[in-house]
Amino acid sequence: MLRQRQTVTICGGGLSGLTLGLALHEYGIPFRIFERAPGLSEIGAGITLWSNAIAVLRHLGVAEAVRAVSEPSQGGVIGLANGQTLLEAGAGDIGDATGQLAIWGAHRVELQRALYAHLPRESVHFAAPFLSYRETAAGIVAQFGQHEDVESSLLVGADGIGSSVRAALFGAAPPRYAGYVCWRAVCPVPPGWAGVAGEFWGAGDRFGVVQLPGERLYWFAVVNAAEDSELRRAGAIEPRGFKSFLLERFARYRFDVPAIIEHTDATAIVFRDIIDRPPERGWSSGAVALVGDAAHATTPNMGQGAGMALESALILARCLADSGTLRTALARYERTRWLRTKRITETSWMIGKMVHWEHPFARAFRDLLFQKTPPAARDRQLMQIAGYDAATAPLAR
Ligand SMILES: Cc1cc2nc3c(=O)[nH]c(=O)nc-3n(C[C@H](O)[C@H](O)[C@H](O)COP(=O)(O)OP(=O)(O)OC[C@H]3O[C@@H](n4cnc5c(N)ncnc54)[C@H](O)[C@@H]3O)c2cc1C
Repeated sequence: MLRQRQTVTICGGGLSGLTLGLALHEYGIPFRIFERAPGLSEIGAGITLWSNAIAVLRHLGVAEAVRAVSEPSQGGVIGLANGQTLLEAGAGDIGDATGQLAIWGAHRVELQRALYAHLPRESVHFAAPFLSYRETAAGIVAQFGQHEDVESSLLVGADGIGSSVRAALFGAAPPRYAGYVCWRAVCPVPPGWAGVAGEFWGAGDRFGVVQLPGERLYWFAVVNAAEDSELRRAGAIEPRGFKSFLLERFARYRFDVPAIIEHTDATAIVFRDIIDRPPERGWSSGAVALVGDAAHATTPNMGQGAGMALESALILARCLADSGTLRTALARYERTRWLRTKRITETSWMIGKMVHWEHPFARAFRDLLFQKTPPAARDRQLMQIAGYDAATAPLAR
């Protein structure tokens, strides 16, 4: 068993890094996490966790703690900006013989705090940006900020889509821009809100609403923007202009969208462009591996980036605990995860394109297709994603 001899250094204390820490802890493999931020940041918005992510949390004994800071979805609507409903599903409406779909909405920082609280305190080091690594006969030596050299048998880059570990391993390559930008925020539930959560599609824009605990909403507004457009640049440089821009852009939307934006503190709105990485094999080399967005970044159109990150973290820990050599463990990890993450990234990319179509005929075709998909086929597709359990899924040989 590898676990008796190895130690793991994790670069990044986001969702994949914290989950990997919890999983290694469970398998008795010593680890340390190095996070560049000075602490768990208050900034950020919400996130949805589907049954497949919740299964990982349950296996790691933290589902109750996460549930305490989450709001289970009571169902939702896919609608059009003009108020037409394309699809409406109540809680428990979606599912098949393998179970029912659960979706929890949480504030990202509250979710991270819940995971962090279950890790040994001395295992996480903040204000520790990754600098470099070198391989030695015994394993790996990594440098983080002011820290002494950190020696271990494996370095895992859990440092997100802009991963420095990935760049050090394979060279820096820019992510792929999806063609749309996003604003997100958490706000109190506005007075008179009709209680409709879901996603609403316009022409080249869309708005999503997720309920959070504590009478709060998490919302996201997504708008088409050409790669070199003013909008893409303006989004990054004009924080004080976000709210008025969005009020104007989404003024025609129904489903209480203008009221939700109006009820949001302008300083709480965060901007980013939407990017991913085309699926690519080679998630490790020697004693360095990647997990989460660093390995398989996807666009957020399916709400599955964190789900994939949590699943991969648990599978990586299982492979390390179950394999005779590090090399075998890392090869099994990638083989187990490759197809599933590739499919999610590709499908999410395609959904993003369709949802952002601007031409009226294309949109009419999309809406019809969406409405005519038989519920059983839709359920089957959803449960292929949400019904996966990374704790029991077979590991590749
Ligand atoms: C707009 C948007 C909405 C989304 N919504 C959802 C959703 O609803 N559901 C869902 O499942 N997924 C969602 N995702 C995807 C999800 O956020 C990511 O897939 C997930 O956060 C990946 O986790 P990670 O730990 O791999 O990376 P990250 O969350 O990016 O964490 C990386 C961590 O590494 C740290 N770090 C970075 N560089 C260094 C360095 N050099 N040294 C040390 N530390 C470093 C960072 O500070 C950070 O803490 C969304 C993404 C976006 C952009």
